[in-house]
Amino acid sequence: MPSQNLESSATDSRALKVLLAGPRGFCAGVDRAIRVVEEALRRYGAPVYVRHEIVHNRTVVEDLEKQGAIFVEELDEVPQDAHVVFSAHGVPKTVPLEAERRNLLYLDATCPLVSKVHREAERHFANGGENSRHILMIGHAGHPEVVGTMGQLPAGAVTLIKDADEARTVQPENPARLAFITQTTLSVDDTAEIVAILRDRFPQIEGPKREDICYATTNRQEAVKRIAPECDLVLVIGSPNSSNSQRLREVAERSGAPKALLIPKLENLEWDALDGVNVLGITAGASAPETLVQEIIEALSDRFSLNIEERIVKEEHVTFSLPAPLG
Ligand code: SF4
Repeated sequence: MPSQNLESSATDSRALKVLLAGPRGFCAGVDRAIRVVEEALRRYGAPVYVRHEIVHNRTVVEDLEKQGAIFVEELDEVPQDAHVVFSAHGVPKTVPLEAERRNLLYLDATCPLVSKVHREAERHFANGGENSRHILMIGHAGHPEVVGTMGQLPAGAVTLIKDADEARTVQPENPARLAFITQTTLSVDDTAEIVAILRDRFPQIEGPKREDICYATTNRQEAVKRIAPECDLVLVIGSPNSSNSQRLREVAERSGAPKALLIPKLENLEWDALDGVNVLGITAGASAPETLVQEIIEALSDRFSLNIEERIVKEEHVTFSLPAPLG
């Protein structure tokens, strides 16, 4: 396991060991989505409209707003002749259709790993013909990625499975013609349990070899699992509406950390939380910039004598190119 030791300069304050989980923070899909907005601003000038938070992180959104991006929830808030970017989470098919109807110039920043799930769903549906399978989507109700993926197919083609209980009780019309897909940012362990229930109840169900949970979600959960048993507290840097950040907090607590807190940034850290903490774990969700982690470490170093150790469970070398109009 590669590790890295960094020593703090503070000398006369209480000792605190910090275990930094690696990988943490930005994934390739988030990095690409931000580059899409920045490149659109560079090429077309401000303002560029973005439908929904480009990624679920307020710091990223505010930074892009300063550069001239305007965030809206629906296309009817976008004026005629404007450029609009669709967020990394993906959109239902109706959204690009509506953009085309209005002659809006749109750029799709959907993560390629989400688009891959969209294509899987379409393949299983097979145009509703005789080879069509009804799809069970494992995911969180109302999350934009789930709305986008379910929206690739006509209403009724996909049933959402939110948890193990629903996997146990779902009553599909034709159990012999089923498939499953998953949201990309779920808990690896919870999803494995749900898939096992579905495979047990419906042996002919089709699905991906591994779940659709992406490499970034998997690696960040694995990294926090490794440090959690040694920590008195784990801080997860990320926004409350970030699914993969929420899962990191849960995984940390389930893996042995007595407590894990999800905080968007330094100003949300309540210092009392560190009372009695000798080993602090830190990780960050896939949409949280590394600058937010470094801000916290700097503030910690003003109060504690830090011994920082980075535990990297996997090197990541994934990058995605920009979508066609910008690539
Ligand atoms: S978390 Fe995974 S699916 Fe989501 S944007 Fe990042 S790489 Fe893509």
